[in-house]
Amino acid sequence: MQRIFLLWLSIILLLCCSSWGFYAHYRLNRLAIFTLPKGMAGFYEANREYLTAEAISPDRRRYVDSTEAAHHFFNADHYGRDPFHTVPQKWNDAAKKYTADTLNKYGTLPWAIQYQYYKLVAAFKAHDTSAILHHSVYLGHYVADACVPLHLTQNYDGQLTHQAGVHALWESRLPEQFGNQYNWYAGKAHYLENPLWQAFIICRGSFKCADTVLRTEHKLHLTFPDSLKYALMQRGNRKVKDYSVAYCKAYNQALHGMVQRRLRTAILNIGSYWFSAWVDAGQPNLNKLIVSPPSAADRAAIIREENLYKAGKIAPLPDYGLINKTLEGKGTLREN
Ligand SMILES: [Zn+2]
Repeated sequence: MQRIFLLWLSIILLLCCSSWGFYAHYRLNRLAIFTLPKGMAGFYEANREYLTAEAISPDRRRYVDSTEAAHHFFNADHYGRDPFHTVPQKWNDAAKKYTADTLNKYGTLPWAIQYQYYKLVAAFKAHDTSAILHHSVYLGHYVADACVPLHLTQNYDGQLTHQAGVHALWESRLPEQFGNQYNWYAGKAHYLENPLWQAFIICRGSFKCADTVLRTEHKLHLTFPDSLKYALMQRGNRKVKDYSVAYCKAYNQALHGMVQRRLRTAILNIGSYWFSAWVDAGQPNLNKLIVSPPSAADRAAIIREENLYKAGKIAPLPDYGLINKTLEGKGTLREN
Protein backbone atom coordinates (compact mmCIF):
# COMPACT_ATOMS: atom_id res chain seq x y z
CA MET A 1 0.00 0.00 0.00
CA GLN A 2 2.79 2.37 0.95
CA ARG A 3 4.58 1.55 -2.30
CA ILE A 4 1.47 2.38 -4.31
CA PHE A 5 1.16 5.65 -2.45
CA LEU A 6 4.81 6.49 -3.14
CA LEU A 7 4.36 5.63 -6.80
CA TRP A 8 1.40 7.98 -7.08
CA LEU A 9 3.27 10.65 -5.18
CA SER A 10 6.19 10.48 -7.60
CA ILE A 11 3.79 10.63 -10.56
CA ILE A 12 2.07 13.69 -9.12
CA LEU A 13 5.45 15.33 -8.47
CA LEU A 14 6.48 14.66 -12.04
CA LEU A 15 3.28 16.20 -13.34
CA CYS A 16 3.68 19.22 -11.15
CA CYS A 17 7.18 20.00 -12.32
CA SER A 18 7.23 19.43 -16.04
CA SER A 19 8.40 22.11 -18.44
CA TRP A 20 6.74 22.83 -21.81
CA GLY A 21 4.58 19.91 -20.70
CA PHE A 22 5.26 16.36 -21.79
CA TYR A 23 3.12 16.79 -24.87
CA ALA A 24 5.16 19.63 -26.33
CA HIS A 25 8.57 18.13 -25.49
CA TYR A 26 7.59 14.90 -27.24
CA ARG A 27 6.35 16.81 -30.25
CA LEU A 28 9.32 19.17 -30.52
CA ASN A 29 12.03 16.48 -30.58
CA ARG A 30 9.99 14.36 -32.95
CA LEU A 31 9.29 17.18 -35.42
CA ALA A 32 12.83 18.57 -35.26
CA ILE A 33 13.95 15.39 -37.06
CA PHE A 34 12.13 16.61 -40.17
CA THR A 35 14.27 19.77 -40.28
CA LEU A 36 17.45 17.71 -40.78
CA PRO A 37 19.35 17.19 -44.05
CA LYS A 38 19.63 13.80 -45.72
CA GLY A 39 22.96 12.86 -44.14
CA MET A 40 21.41 13.01 -40.68
CA ALA A 41 17.74 12.22 -41.24
CA GLY A 42 18.15 8.43 -41.62
CA PHE A 43 19.89 8.03 -38.25
CA TYR A 44 17.50 10.34 -36.40
CA GLU A 45 14.46 8.72 -38.01
CA ALA A 46 15.72 5.25 -37.03
CA ASN A 47 15.92 6.50 -33.43
CA ARG A 48 12.87 8.71 -33.34
CA GLU A 49 11.01 6.67 -30.75
CA TYR A 50 13.92 7.09 -28.33
CA LEU A 51 14.24 10.80 -29.13
CA THR A 52 10.52 11.27 -28.55
CA ALA A 53 10.04 9.13 -25.46
CA GLU A 54 13.19 10.44 -23.75
CA ALA A 55 12.41 14.09 -24.49
CA ILE A 56 11.24 14.56 -20.91
CA SER A 57 14.06 12.68 -19.18
CA PRO A 58 15.96 15.91 -18.29
CA ASP A 59 12.88 16.94 -16.26
CA ARG A 60 12.84 13.57 -14.52
CA ARG A 61 16.51 13.85 -13.73
CA ARG A 62 15.82 16.71 -11.34
CA TYR A 63 14.56 14.21 -8.80
CA VAL A 64 17.81 12.30 -8.65
CA ASP A 65 20.29 15.11 -9.30
CA SER A 66 20.03 18.34 -7.32
CA THR A 67 22.24 20.20 -9.82
CA GLU A 68 19.85 19.52 -12.71
CA ALA A 69 17.07 22.04 -11.99
CA ALA A 70 19.21 25.10 -12.76
CA HIS A 71 19.74 23.89 -16.34
CA HIS A 72 16.06 24.46 -17.19
CA PHE A 73 15.69 28.20 -16.61
CA PHE A 74 17.47 31.55 -16.63
CA ASN A 75 15.91 34.25 -14.47
CA ALA A 76 17.09 37.11 -16.65
CA ASP A 77 15.13 39.74 -14.70
CA HIS A 78 17.27 39.11 -11.65
CA TYR A 79 20.07 40.94 -13.48
CA GLY A 80 18.28 44.24 -13.94
CA ARG A 81 16.29 45.94 -16.65
CA ASP A 82 18.60 45.11 -19.53
CA PRO A 83 19.96 41.65 -18.64
CA PHE A 84 21.03 40.69 -22.14
CA HIS A 85 23.50 43.57 -22.18
CA THR A 86 24.42 43.23 -18.52
CA VAL A 87 25.20 39.51 -18.23
CA PRO A 88 28.39 38.44 -20.02
CA GLN A 89 27.74 35.50 -22.32
CA LYS A 90 30.87 33.57 -21.47
CA TRP A 91 30.45 31.54 -18.29
CA ASN A 92 33.82 32.54 -16.80
CA ASP A 93 33.13 36.24 -17.36
CA ALA A 94 29.61 35.94 -15.94
CA ALA A 95 30.84 33.93 -12.93
CA LYS A 96 33.55 36.51 -12.31
CA LYS A 97 30.96 39.27 -12.34
CA TYR A 98 28.22 37.54 -10.31
CA THR A 99 29.82 34.36 -8.79
CA ALA A 100 29.02 30.84 -9.95
CA ASP A 101 26.64 30.39 -6.98
CA THR A 102 24.52 33.32 -8.16
CA LEU A 103 24.41 31.99 -11.72
CA ASN A 104 23.36 28.58 -10.43
CA LYS A 105 20.70 30.09 -8.23
CA TYR A 106 19.10 32.11 -11.03
CA GLY A 107 19.48 29.46 -13.70
CA THR A 108 22.08 28.37 -16.22
CA LEU A 109 19.94 27.54 -19.24
CA PRO A 110 22.05 29.20 -21.99
CA TRP A 111 25.24 27.62 -20.67
CA ALA A 112 23.53 24.22 -20.34
CA ILE A 113 22.72 24.47 -24.06
CA GLN A 114 26.34 25.33 -24.84
CA TYR A 115 27.62 22.44 -22.69
CA GLN A 116 25.31 19.89 -24.31
CA TYR A 117 26.22 21.22 -27.72
CA TYR A 118 29.91 20.49 -27.26
CA LYS A 119 29.13 17.09 -25.73
CA LEU A 120 27.11 16.30 -28.85
CA VAL A 121 29.97 17.42 -31.14
CA ALA A 122 32.31 15.10 -29.19
CA ALA A 123 29.80 12.23 -29.41
CA PHE A 124 29.56 12.64 -33.20
CA LYS A 125 33.35 12.70 -33.48
CA ALA A 126 33.58 9.52 -31.41
CA HIS A 127 30.82 7.81 -33.45
CA ASP A 128 29.26 6.98 -30.10
CA THR A 129 25.62 6.16 -30.83
CA SER A 130 24.29 6.21 -27.28
CA ALA A 131 26.11 9.46 -26.48
CA ILE A 132 24.76 11.06 -29.68
CA LEU A 133 21.23 10.13 -28.68
CA HIS A 134 21.65 11.12 -25.04
CA HIS A 135 23.08 14.56 -25.82
CA SER A 136 20.59 15.13 -28.67
CA VAL A 137 17.82 14.57 -26.13
CA TYR A 138 19.30 16.91 -23.52
CA LEU A 139 20.21 19.58 -26.05
CA GLY A 140 16.73 19.38 -27.57
CA HIS A 141 15.10 19.67 -24.16
CA TYR A 142 17.09 22.70 -23.03
CA VAL A 143 16.62 24.49 -26.36
CA ALA A 144 12.88 23.84 -26.05
CA ASP A 145 12.85 25.20 -22.50
CA ALA A 146 14.68 28.33 -23.66
CA CYS A 147 11.74 29.02 -26.00
CA VAL A 148 9.28 29.27 -23.08
CA PRO A 149 8.89 32.88 -21.91
CA LEU A 150 8.22 31.96 -18.28
CA HIS A 151 11.53 30.07 -18.06
CA LEU A 152 13.20 33.49 -18.27
CA THR A 153 11.64 35.25 -15.31
CA GLN A 154 11.56 35.04 -11.54
CA ASN A 155 7.80 35.35 -11.76
CA TYR A 156 7.81 32.01 -13.54
CA ASP A 157 4.34 30.92 -12.47
CA GLY A 158 2.81 34.34 -11.97
CA GLN A 159 3.22 33.65 -8.26
CA LEU A 160 4.37 37.24 -7.64
CA THR A 161 1.32 38.73 -9.36
CA HIS A 162 -1.48 36.47 -8.08
CA GLN A 163 -1.51 34.46 -11.30
CA ALA A 164 -0.33 31.08 -10.01
CA GLY A 165 -1.02 28.42 -12.60
CA VAL A 166 -0.29 30.58 -15.64
CA HIS A 167 2.88 28.60 -16.37
CA ALA A 168 1.08 25.33 -17.02
CA LEU A 169 -1.75 27.19 -18.73
CA TRP A 170 0.63 28.67 -21.31
CA GLU A 171 3.00 25.79 -21.89
CA SER A 172 0.82 22.71 -21.27
CA ARG A 173 -2.89 23.43 -21.60
CA LEU A 174 -2.69 25.59 -24.71
CA PRO A 175 -0.43 23.28 -26.79
CA GLU A 176 -2.45 20.23 -25.71
CA GLN A 177 -5.79 21.85 -26.42
CA PHE A 178 -4.93 23.73 -29.61
CA GLY A 179 -1.98 21.71 -30.97
CA ASN A 180 -4.12 20.28 -33.73
CA GLN A 181 -4.95 23.80 -34.89
CA TYR A 182 -1.40 25.17 -34.86
CA ASN A 183 0.83 25.27 -37.92
CA TRP A 184 3.97 23.38 -36.88
CA TYR A 185 6.06 23.76 -40.02
CA ALA A 186 9.37 25.40 -39.08
CA GLY A 187 11.46 24.98 -42.23
CA LYS A 188 14.90 23.40 -42.51
CA ALA A 189 17.74 23.36 -40.01
CA HIS A 190 20.58 25.80 -40.64
CA TYR A 191 24.12 26.15 -39.37
CA LEU A 192 24.59 28.15 -36.18
CA GLU A 193 27.86 30.05 -36.17
CA ASN A 194 27.96 30.54 -32.43
CA PRO A 195 25.96 28.13 -30.22
CA LEU A 196 26.30 30.19 -27.05
CA TRP A 197 25.35 33.44 -28.77
CA GLN A 198 22.35 31.69 -30.33
CA ALA A 199 21.29 30.38 -26.89
CA PHE A 200 21.22 33.97 -25.61
CA ILE A 201 19.31 35.10 -28.71
CA ILE A 202 16.61 32.48 -28.04
CA CYS A 203 16.48 33.40 -24.35
CA ARG A 204 16.19 37.08 -25.18
CA GLY A 205 13.32 36.37 -27.60
CA SER A 206 11.48 34.43 -24.89
CA PHE A 207 12.21 37.02 -22.23
CA LYS A 208 10.66 39.72 -24.42
CA CYS A 209 7.42 37.68 -24.48
CA ALA A 210 7.23 37.06 -20.72
CA ASP A 211 5.55 40.35 -19.95
CA THR A 212 2.89 39.74 -22.61
CA VAL A 213 2.24 36.21 -21.28
CA LEU A 214 1.50 37.62 -17.83
CA ARG A 215 -0.21 40.87 -18.81
CA THR A 216 -2.53 39.15 -21.27
CA GLU A 217 -3.61 36.58 -18.68
CA HIS A 218 -4.17 39.30 -16.10
CA LYS A 219 -6.36 41.31 -18.47
CA LEU A 220 -8.35 38.22 -19.37
CA HIS A 221 -8.78 37.30 -15.73
CA LEU A 222 -10.47 40.68 -15.14
CA THR A 223 -13.13 39.83 -17.73
CA PHE A 224 -13.87 36.28 -16.49
CA PRO A 225 -15.73 35.58 -13.25
CA ASP A 226 -14.25 32.60 -11.39
CA SER A 227 -17.31 30.52 -12.24
CA LEU A 228 -16.37 30.76 -15.95
CA LYS A 229 -12.60 30.89 -15.54
CA TYR A 230 -12.40 27.50 -13.82
CA ALA A 231 -14.16 24.20 -14.37
CA LEU A 232 -13.99 20.69 -13.00
CA MET A 233 -11.89 18.74 -15.48
CA GLN A 234 -11.52 14.99 -15.73
CA ARG A 235 -7.96 13.82 -14.95
CA GLY A 236 -7.84 10.07 -15.17
CA ASN A 237 -10.28 8.90 -12.51
CA ARG A 238 -10.46 12.21 -10.73
CA LYS A 239 -12.15 15.53 -11.29
CA VAL A 240 -9.93 18.51 -10.53
CA LYS A 241 -10.43 22.26 -10.71
CA ASP A 242 -8.59 23.70 -13.68
CA TYR A 243 -8.89 26.50 -16.23
CA SER A 244 -12.05 26.09 -18.28
CA VAL A 245 -11.93 25.34 -21.99
CA ALA A 246 -13.50 28.75 -22.68
CA TYR A 247 -10.77 30.50 -20.69
CA CYS A 248 -8.03 28.59 -22.53
CA LYS A 249 -9.63 29.48 -25.83
CA ALA A 250 -9.84 33.16 -24.98
CA TYR A 251 -6.24 33.18 -23.72
CA ASN A 252 -4.96 31.42 -26.83
CA GLN A 253 -6.75 33.98 -29.01
CA ALA A 254 -5.52 36.94 -26.99
CA LEU A 255 -1.90 35.76 -27.39
CA HIS A 256 -2.23 36.09 -31.19
CA GLY A 257 -0.32 32.94 -32.10
CA MET A 258 2.51 33.34 -29.59
CA VAL A 259 2.49 29.70 -28.43
CA GLN A 260 2.59 28.48 -32.01
CA ARG A 261 5.48 30.84 -32.81
CA ARG A 262 7.52 29.71 -29.80
CA LEU A 263 6.86 26.04 -30.67
CA ARG A 264 8.11 26.61 -34.20
CA THR A 265 11.12 28.51 -32.95
CA ALA A 266 11.89 25.51 -30.73
CA ILE A 267 11.60 22.99 -33.58
CA LEU A 268 13.83 25.01 -35.89
CA ASN A 269 16.45 25.61 -33.22
CA ILE A 270 16.55 22.03 -31.96
CA GLY A 271 17.16 20.86 -35.53
CA SER A 272 19.70 23.61 -36.16
CA TYR A 273 21.67 22.76 -33.00
CA TRP A 274 21.75 19.04 -33.90
CA PHE A 275 22.76 19.88 -37.46
CA SER A 276 25.48 22.35 -36.45
CA ALA A 277 27.00 19.88 -33.98
CA TRP A 278 27.18 17.29 -36.75
CA VAL A 279 28.82 19.80 -39.11
CA ASP A 280 31.32 20.86 -36.44
CA ALA A 281 32.18 17.19 -35.91
CA GLY A 282 33.10 16.88 -39.60
CA GLN A 283 29.81 15.36 -40.80
CA PRO A 284 30.47 11.74 -39.80
CA ASN A 285 28.61 9.01 -41.68
CA LEU A 286 25.64 8.37 -39.41
CA ASN A 287 24.14 5.67 -41.62
CA LYS A 288 26.84 3.31 -40.36
CA LEU A 289 25.51 3.83 -36.83
CA ILE A 290 21.96 2.70 -37.60
CA VAL A 291 21.50 -0.54 -35.66
CA SER A 292 17.97 -1.39 -36.73
CA PRO A 293 16.56 0.44 -39.74
CA PRO A 294 12.84 1.28 -39.61
CA SER A 295 10.50 -1.50 -40.76
CA ALA A 296 8.39 -0.96 -43.87
CA ALA A 297 5.47 0.06 -41.65
CA ASP A 298 7.66 2.50 -39.65
CA ARG A 299 9.05 3.90 -42.87
CA ALA A 300 5.52 4.52 -44.15
CA ALA A 301 4.58 6.19 -40.85
CA ILE A 302 7.67 8.44 -41.02
CA ILE A 303 6.84 9.51 -44.58
CA ARG A 304 3.24 10.15 -43.59
CA GLU A 305 4.29 12.27 -40.60
CA GLU A 306 6.86 14.16 -42.66
CA ASN A 307 4.24 15.01 -45.28
CA LEU A 308 1.90 16.17 -42.54
CA TYR A 309 4.70 18.28 -41.04
CA LYS A 310 5.36 19.92 -44.42
CA ALA A 311 1.69 20.89 -44.43
CA GLY A 312 2.08 22.23 -40.86
CA LYS A 313 0.07 19.37 -39.34
CA ILE A 314 0.74 16.64 -36.78
CA ALA A 315 -0.08 12.97 -36.38
CA PRO A 316 -1.27 11.53 -33.04
CA LEU A 317 1.63 10.69 -30.71
CA PRO A 318 2.43 7.06 -29.91
CA ASP A 319 1.06 5.78 -26.64
CA TYR A 320 3.74 6.19 -23.99
CA GLY A 321 1.68 4.39 -21.39
CA LEU A 322 1.12 6.15 -18.12
CA ILE A 323 2.72 9.42 -19.15
CA ASN A 324 0.75 9.68 -22.35
CA LYS A 325 -2.47 9.09 -20.45
CA THR A 326 -1.76 12.05 -18.20
CA LEU A 327 -0.96 14.51 -20.96
CA GLU A 328 -3.46 16.99 -19.70
CA GLY A 329 -1.82 17.07 -16.29
CA LYS A 330 -1.29 20.61 -15.19
CA GLY A 331 1.78 21.71 -13.37
CA THR A 332 4.11 24.44 -12.34
CA LEU A 333 7.72 24.44 -13.24
CA ARG A 334 10.34 24.55 -10.59
CA GLU A 335 11.25 24.84 -6.99
CA ASN A 336 13.49 27.91 -6.94
ZN1 LIG B 1 12.80 21.35 -18.58
